[in-house]
Amino acid sequence: MSTRVLYIEDDQDSQRLVSRVLSSFGYEVFLAKDGLEGVTLAREKQPHLVLIDINLPHLDGRATTTRLRSIPTLASIPIVALTANISPGNRELALAAGCTGFLTKPIDIDELPKQVSAFLHGYKHSLPEEARNQNLEQHARNLVEKLEAKVRELENINAQLYRLDRMKSEFLTLASHELRTPLTLVGGYSDILEKQLQQMTDLAMLPPILQVVEKLNKGVSRLKEIVDEIVRGARIATGALHLAWQPVLIGVLLAELEAYFLPICQTRNLTLQMENLRGLPAIVGDEEQLKTAVKNVIENGIKYTPDGGEISVSGQVLGGGIEIQIKDTGIGIPPEEQSYIFDEFHVLGPIDHHSTSKSAFQGGGLGLGLTIARGIIEAHNGRIWVESSGRDPDKLPGSTFHIWLPL
Ligand code: ADP
Repeated sequence: MSTRVLYIEDDQDSQRLVSRVLSSFGYEVFLAKDGLEGVTLAREKQPHLVLIDINLPHLDGRATTTRLRSIPTLASIPIVALTANISPGNRELALAAGCTGFLTKPIDIDELPKQVSAFLHGYKHSLPEEARNQNLEQHARNLVEKLEAKVRELENINAQLYRLDRMKSEFLTLASHELRTPLTLVGGYSDILEKQLQQMTDLAMLPPILQVVEKLNKGVSRLKEIVDEIVRGARIATGALHLAWQPVLIGVLLAELEAYFLPICQTRNLTLQMENLRGLPAIVGDEEQLKTAVKNVIENGIKYTPDGGEISVSGQVLGGGIEIQIKDTGIGIPPEEQSYIFDEFHVLGPIDHHSTSKSAFQGGGLGLGLTIARGIIEAHNGRIWVESSGRDPDKLPGSTFHIWLPL
């Protein structure tokens, strides 16, 4: 088995040179372009020796060496600095930070293999005790200074992200309000038109015009639904969701949803099964909001289950609350995506299937349905989560959404 050498270096010319020289001597060379990648690769490859540049981006060579030394399997391997930085004190600092040796660039291609071999056989550059202690202190100060600068940088970035996130929510609120006004006008006039046409008598043109108006109205209602969804999403994002608390019978609420979804399921040849729901005790909550939450989850079950499948809804009293399970025989959700699908605008897979329809197979929407559902459930001190063994449009592993609401 060959000896493994990890070379951590951001300069590609040096990378190529060292890797060529050492490979020709039978070493297996791994390259990392910065300290973080170096630490990851060192863990993975467990090298026998590390060569490291000092002036690396982000985590410099000294900090990386200190980090590598804290990994038990790398605590005593040779870590050799290979640097063009020969300013006074640099060698001592590197040795105090944990380097075994300090070599300078330009690289001497005749000497390097001999030096590497010597370090592998236990050779070390020495540093007197007193100098080591002094440099160790300096190294610690440098680390803390860098850490402070990084923390400040992260704080600034975080503040910026907060600001962007707020701007996005405000934009959603504004955009949907802007859209709502003209939409209300169009809707109102098309209603008036429809009524006037209905009152007209005996005109051959009437039926085709009425058909157009009907389609117009349908389009307007769908637009209104989209705007409402955005408004609701924005309210949840800004924590401005108002709940009208009252006793709610989940069984009744689900029966209403069943009546709403049955005709939709018929068009897609899907079975909608409702079990054990009538006997569930009343909870306190906002009936309309809860209905929206459950509706969004059932709607997804319909959207992500191919024709001929089944969506079953069941309920039980569990852990001081009611748990509703919405199980489908659809394409399923990959485990690594399961926590993200509740995030705003998070949609899975390609968006080619994107559709304004609320029931077409894989007809994804804005990625707000589950965000809204979770926002509403959590505002009721409840929980929503999903179980699925993975996504497979052929084998159809299905998904089960759980909604738990306190009694
Ligand atoms: P949308 O409103 O666009 O449908 P959602 O927030 O409701 O978005 O869902 C987010 C993503 O989660 C969807 O794009 C879909 O990929 C996935 N998803 C949600 N429910 C299911 C389900 N029952 N089966 C498979 N995938 C689902």
